[in-house]
Amino acid sequence: MSPLAPRPGILDIAPYVGGLSAIEGSETIIKLSSNEGAFGPSPKAIEACRKAAPDMHRYPDSQCSALRGALGDAHGIDPARIVCGDGSDELIGLLCQAYAGPGDQVLYSQYGFLMYPIAAKSVGATPVAAPETNLTADVDELLGKVTDKTRILFLANPNNPTGSYLNASEMKRLRDGLPETVLLVIDAAYAEFVTHDDYDAGIELVDGGENVVMTRTFSKIYALGGLRLGWAYCPPPVADALNRLRGPFNVSSLAQAAGVAALSDTDFFKRCRTNNNIWRPWTANKLRGLGLTVPPSAGNFKLVRFPGVRGKTAEAADAFLKSHGIITRAMGAYGLDDSLRVTIGREEEMCAFIDALTEFMS
Ligand SMILES: *Cc1c(COP(=O)(O)O)cnc(C)c1O
Repeated sequence: MSPLAPRPGILDIAPYVGGLSAIEGSETIIKLSSNEGAFGPSPKAIEACRKAAPDMHRYPDSQCSALRGALGDAHGIDPARIVCGDGSDELIGLLCQAYAGPGDQVLYSQYGFLMYPIAAKSVGATPVAAPETNLTADVDELLGKVTDKTRILFLANPNNPTGSYLNASEMKRLRDGLPETVLLVIDAAYAEFVTHDDYDAGIELVDGGENVVMTRTFSKIYALGGLRLGWAYCPPPVADALNRLRGPFNVSSLAQAAGVAALSDTDFFKRCRTNNNIWRPWTANKLRGLGLTVPPSAGNFKLVRFPGVRGKTAEAADAFLKSHGIITRAMGAYGLDDSLRVTIGREEEMCAFIDALTEFMS
């Protein structure tokens, strides 16, 4: 071993592997592997980047003032309690740095987003997974795992990759059952896609106490994943901690400009939501028709579970789809070897996906 070893725990981190973007030998591909917006970014966001480009020698506004103002207006919340980040992944990491360390536990649910255990390990804390029921976070199991070492509970709502969500009363029950010394982080990366009346992204819970944070991202419905932009709505002391810890220029000027423009493009936003509302149930029906299991999803993706008999495994389906230029996401890293996750794209993409899968299953 080199005398220059990283801190204990760092080499236990299984590196996060993003969705593939290319297949060797395929020129045109259909990428349904990372839940990126079906139509690309809003034309207004692209235009805002063009306009901001000549000034990119200037450091960005370290306060993200215009963006936080626009977010405050859009969501009816106090901009002083918003902290922007280099993607919400950065905010997840900063929350771990601020509130957890060696000897502490960071709680998440069994099929929760993989960045939570990664971020926990990066600060030397121990990730603890609570079992799920029917691929859904279980409030009693989560509360049952809380110990005097627990510092943070991360919950994606809706969750990626399962698509399941907890309704507002379950979320309140979770918050009410937590000691005030545990920070509940509600990762609402897919909030914009949820249509259920009993869902709440978490603003009320943040307002109702000192130990709840909600994180959001511009990577999914706003389709700005390449620019890296996320934000957290926080109790003032948590915002204060994050603002001390973050880099002063953690959000680029182009990301700030694009974020403001994307928020203003409500027509484009509605078009993306409508596309999802049409093609998510269409895709689910077709998949069920092929004899596949598709748990309900509140996000812009579907988990597809394969029977595993007669060669109809997720692994074989993944290879078959790739040979047709279609990239979905294998779920082995989540312990769901029997599943693929497919992003809901545009009409022609979903038709090509279903056509290829029909051939595979026949
Ligand atoms: C995609 C995703 C994020 C990451 O968002 P970035 O803002 O791109 O870092 C966070 N949480 C969940 C659950 C996601 O699926």
